[in-house]
Amino acid sequence: MESVKGIVKDIPLANNYGPEFLVIERGEGSWLWDVEGKRYLDFTAGIAVNALGYGRKDLAKAAYEQMLKIIHTSNLYTTSPVIELAERLIKTGSFLENDGFVALHFSNSGSEANETALKYARLYSLREKGKGHDKILAFSNAFHGRTLGALSCTPKAKYQEPFKPLIPGVEVCGYNDTDALSKMLNEEFAAVIVEVVQGEGGLDVMSKEFADALNALCKKYNVILIADEVQTGLSRTGSFYASQGVGLKPDIVTLAKPLAGGLPLSATLIPEKINTLIHVGEHGSTFGGGPVTAAVALRVLEVLSEESFIAEVAEKGDYFAKLLEGLTNRHSSLGALKGKGLLRGVEYLGGESDGGGKSPDLSKVISLAREKGLLILRSGTNVLRFTPPLTISKDELERGIAILDEVMGELEKTS
Ligand code: PMP
Repeated sequence: MESVKGIVKDIPLANNYGPEFLVIERGEGSWLWDVEGKRYLDFTAGIAVNALGYGRKDLAKAAYEQMLKIIHTSNLYTTSPVIELAERLIKTGSFLENDGFVALHFSNSGSEANETALKYARLYSLREKGKGHDKILAFSNAFHGRTLGALSCTPKAKYQEPFKPLIPGVEVCGYNDTDALSKMLNEEFAAVIVEVVQGEGGLDVMSKEFADALNALCKKYNVILIADEVQTGLSRTGSFYASQGVGLKPDIVTLAKPLAGGLPLSATLIPEKINTLIHVGEHGSTFGGGPVTAAVALRVLEVLSEESFIAEVAEKGDYFAKLLEGLTNRHSSLGALKGKGLLRGVEYLGGESDGGGKSPDLSKVISLAREKGLLILRSGTNVLRFTPPLTISKDELERGIAILDEVMGELEKTS
């Protein structure tokens, strides 16, 4: 492999990823090093996955020790870490009526966790309310995954069009549009699937009013309310679940990204009323919830569920928002602040005119930041997204803002 400035081209990965890759060698804390030895401050954390940062010996040790014992058993058998993790995770529903969750299903990705949630909601609705009660309500700018069911609830033409037909019965309502929601929802729906912060779709945050309406209307029509907390869950927004921050009371919660510290593991947490209707063999997964991912997740959960850790994330999130506010005041090419906790963003207004108005060129910002040693993401069409490790220090947040200051200054000079 030949890399120029840490970048490789023409590698045999399908064209759905870009033509160039930065080749990462290793990480420590909030920092990454490429194969040429260049260091980067990481405001991406593997897209909100590496919540505890890099180089964690405790996670490596948990995986190693479990691998020496047993790596895989199938779901015909089980192991102690899997039992312990399931027991710990279902207790996280204590903010919900009747303590929320009595069971969960483990899988390997956010998409699969959402597929499972949609299947369970349909199973419940069809068995409880009868034939025809199978519709699913999703929202504008939502992202729930790339498998066909989850994709059907992700209303973005670029993602959906090449793969049609999708699953039938999915309708789309405006996000945070309480009037539209109350007109659209009825007992024919099996499920509503929603994010509290739209991680991929521009970082809009659910209003309290909308959360109240979702709670009330889903209860009224006996519709399963699914909170997709794949990106927001496990303390990223300054509460263990983002749902808690806005008073959303979901029946099902899905978790993934940070759950096993970078190893693939997801969970679909369910209440009694659904679990009692599921029969043996109606759903399953070969790899979902293996002993190694569970052993690592136990350690991750121990840290991420600590109250003082969550309070620190909330405080650092507020501090970061203030820094970002200062940045937007200094640069005319930056607009509104978006997001919550350490899932933050800012609208980018710079870029070329494309006749119908400005078309913000986020890729220029992202690549210049990379050249200057800061890794950042995009969200939606015009939002720069920052999802640093939750263990990041205030000094590191300031360092990142200083780099962004330079980047915006340079781009504004040339535009
Ligand atoms: N839901 C949300 C909210 C997400 O952010 C993502 C991933 N960005 C997914 C689902 C899909 O997760 P995965 O890529 O692990 O399938």
